[in-house]
Amino acid sequence: MTDPIAADKAHCWHPFTLQSEWCDPAHEPLMIVRGEGVWLFDSNGEKYLDGNSSIWTNIHGHCRPEIAEAIAKQAATLDHSSYLGFAHPLASELAEKLVFHFPKNTLERVFYSDNGSTAVEVALKMSIQSRMQTGQEKRTRFIAFDNAYHGDTLGAASLGGVNRFFSRFRNLGYDTQFVASIDALKFIDSSTVTAVVIEPLIQGVNEMRPWPKGMLRELREWTNKLGIHLILDEVMTGFGRTGTMFACQQENVAPDFLCLAKGLTGGTVPLAATLTTNAVYETFLGSSENAFYYGHSYTANPIGCAAAIASLQIFEDEKTLDLLPIKINFLEKQLAELKAKSKHIVEIRQCGLVAGIQLKPGLGIQTTLAVRNQGLLTRNILDTLVFMPPLCISLDEIEFAIDAIRKSV
Ligand SMILES: *Cc1c(COP(=O)(O)O)cnc(C)c1O
Repeated sequence: MTDPIAADKAHCWHPFTLQSEWCDPAHEPLMIVRGEGVWLFDSNGEKYLDGNSSIWTNIHGHCRPEIAEAIAKQAATLDHSSYLGFAHPLASELAEKLVFHFPKNTLERVFYSDNGSTAVEVALKMSIQSRMQTGQEKRTRFIAFDNAYHGDTLGAASLGGVNRFFSRFRNLGYDTQFVASIDALKFIDSSTVTAVVIEPLIQGVNEMRPWPKGMLRELREWTNKLGIHLILDEVMTGFGRTGTMFACQQENVAPDFLCLAKGLTGGTVPLAATLTTNAVYETFLGSSENAFYYGHSYTANPIGCAAAIASLQIFEDEKTLDLLPIKINFLEKQLAELKAKSKHIVEIRQCGLVAGIQLKPGLGIQTTLAVRNQGLLTRNILDTLVFMPPLCISLDEIEFAIDAIRKSV
């Protein structure tokens, strides 16, 4: 092979990237070649703290032997078989383990797919089809929130409220009404709405903006009262990011659909799951027309399931969630000090181990590059620097990362 950077610039196309800038001869992309714990290593042997959890996926650190071994073992036992017409034990085990986290008679059924966008697509299609099968054909519309992000496939994108990504596609997908807050729901014709979709507790792509406390609970009450489905997109917030296994547990809310992906396998291989209730599931029974005609070739991939089970096992063995409060408090203190000492920081937003550091206008990209030189890899969303490390991060490593930011701003 030629030089990997030359081959990249000649043949690859990166997501959310202006390729003319990327391929500019002056741009030297980092080639990440190895990961260990919270650290990533580039092709020059430089070491960086993974402050963005490799785009919000990594949970227990990179290349955890327990997960790597589970993947290797499964790859040598059964790599893939069709979930269309067959079952396999790991998918059964994982489904049982996922629904175990929710109260009885709430989320009971698991539908597997490949990524966050498809996890959302599944929920949207299930919601609409269940209406068709229960004499509620008029319920065809969705409600989503301004600046929401639910993925990039066309259906998920039609619920995307981030205008710079989605406005050009908005008329091609689902009929979606956007609202700014829960108060705006009062003015909506709810009789044609099938579901409300929300990122619970905090909107990620919207520069890490937490919702007001109690809002999710209130939204659940509103949807219950009007017979509207509640779809929770926990693709980012799932698996401990916000301090509890799932964000919705902090407000004692069980949705009609829960979408999981990113951290499901600990951030190792792609796998997604959409959880739903028996009430929804039962509308798909009986006549063959009622089946859910949806699926992907790699649905419930056994290697993905093995990785997810291994990741959940680490949660149990290491008491990952019990260790979080100390880390979350430490981060909060560090961020408060950081803000107090820097006139370039406008606001700090934090929810669990997810933080957005809002900088003065124009400083986002510069700061991302500056912290990289200090050994911290992350991304800015506009002028907000994201700090969302793997949950296994130590207090010393948090200090290292905040120090890198302090030196840079
Ligand atoms: C990342 C993300 C998605 C999309 O997941 P993909 O795996 O990238 O398709 C959907 N919703 C939220 C909240 C996300 O953060």
